[in-house]
Amino acid sequence: MPIITRSAVSVERDDWRQILAQAFRSAGDLLDYLGLAADRLPQVLTEFRDFPLLVPQPYASLMEPGNPADPLLLQVLPLRDELLPVPGFSSDPLEEAGANPDRGIIHKYHGRVLLLAASGCAVNCRYCFRRHFPYADNRVSRAQWQQALDYIRNDTSITEVILSGGDPLLLQDDALQELVSLCDAIPQLKRLRIHTRLPVVIPQRVTPQLAQILKHSRLTTSMVLHINHARELSPALHSSLSTLREAGVTLLNQSVLLKNVNNDFRVLSELSESLFEFGILPYYLHLLDRVSGAHHFEISEAEAVKLHRELLAGLPGYLVPRLVREIAGLPNKAPINLDRQ
Ligand code: SF4
Repeated sequence: MPIITRSAVSVERDDWRQILAQAFRSAGDLLDYLGLAADRLPQVLTEFRDFPLLVPQPYASLMEPGNPADPLLLQVLPLRDELLPVPGFSSDPLEEAGANPDRGIIHKYHGRVLLLAASGCAVNCRYCFRRHFPYADNRVSRAQWQQALDYIRNDTSITEVILSGGDPLLLQDDALQELVSLCDAIPQLKRLRIHTRLPVVIPQRVTPQLAQILKHSRLTTSMVLHINHARELSPALHSSLSTLREAGVTLLNQSVLLKNVNNDFRVLSELSESLFEFGILPYYLHLLDRVSGAHHFEISEAEAVKLHRELLAGLPGYLVPRLVREIAGLPNKAPINLDRQ
């Protein structure tokens, strides 16, 4: 791909699909863009076909040029460490294969179900617990949605659909409109939730049409964003989220605790404060899921608890996300019990 210089950020490239098509797909191009000589990052993996580098330019523009330890860069840069087999880390740490009763459906929790509406993302986060997920076996075409929705319709205990992926906002607006309408037509459903990181890496994804689709759904709609560092909260994102708030969408955030990215009280408290300024409630703070290739991001549970205690002492309660871990087979996220530490 042609190298995009920082000065070439173009206001006319406002079509999110075009921005995605022009995303960085090579570590060399991204490091050139950031003015980083390759010899400053000798541990970078330049080729990794299974889970390659993918970084849209708006997200890269939030990184600090010349800084090999930039917390945004560290989340997306493939490193040789990912190739090391580490005991306790596996390709399916949450054992989702056992909760995959139908193509495109993950049913782990009582009353709500995940619908895998898209099989890719706009960014490849190196710590992603689904980085080895068999998306090819779970790709649900528009023609196959009805089968997945029949699964939901036939279980009247399900009252909430969570559009997940991959990233469900990779669907184009007309497809999303159709999917939301199909969910609207399932009588027992009350809520629609969208789990996405796409607006964070390409704020232009929040189109006026997307806001209208969510506004006109009969379901109570929330969007759970995935933001790990205050520097990910850009002015463009602020403007996009205002559109969603005006459409009546509740905005929540989940973060993952990541070594050298956000395992610091000041970083986490700044994140919570900034989220609130953007109209987003800090919701969950996750311990890392132990997926192969991500061990270098892990911090200990004791360190996580210490950080969480500092947040509780330093922030109003509504700015302190719940500290949780996902445990395979449990019907809910497991809160970390502070009393037992
Ligand atoms: S956006 Fe979410 S699902 Fe996609 S790679 Fe990142 S963490 Fe994984």
